Amino acid sequence: MVAIVDPRRALLALLNAPTAEQFIEAYGPLREPIASKKAGTSNLHSAFLGKPHTPQETVTSLASLFSGAVSLSQDAKDRLLLNTLLAIIFNDPVTVNGTVQPTALDVDIVLGTVEPRPRDLLDGMALELLRSRKMIARCGQCSKFFYRQFSKDKYCSTVCTSEARLRYQAEWVQKKRESKKKGRKAH
Ligand SMILES: [Zn+2]
Repeated sequence: MVAIVDPRRALLALLNAPTAEQFIEAYGPLREPIASKKAGTSNLHSAFLGKPHTPQETVTSLASLFSGAVSLSQDAKDRLLLNTLLAIIFNDPVTVNGTVQPTALDVDIVLGTVEPRPRDLLDGMALELLRSRKMIARCGQCSKFFYRQFSKDKYCSTVCTSEARLRYQAEWVQKKRESKKKGRKAH
């Protein structure tokens, strides 16, 4: 069944999942499949993800849009797309314990506050993306997404760090050899 819900880990799992099936197996589908919702209760899919709306397609589309947020370009269109997607996620009605919750925003007129309140894993992951986007990077060795501890971090693990070091050393030796060969030819 579904693993313990940890939006931080789930976000990385979504970005790194080789297939949508593998993500769904570990975390379940993101939001209930659209077919089981009454028509008109969800605008998430119709607005962004096209048809048909299988759970796999939802996961695949979100993985691609969310990974786009990690390497966000200066392109105003890309930003608008992501802003709109996140707004739609937070305002897509979700049923929690039989009650429809229309929004992930907790608004209090007395306190004068607006706080995000995740209703499901997708809300949690979208919030995590907003908060941690700049700390997520792609490993320079294995290409996996990971959370950087320091802004200079380039590799996801000590294994990848030492593999990268060995690769650099090998490349350095190779270059040395080639420049020696060239040097000899020149004479
Ligand atoms: Zn790595």
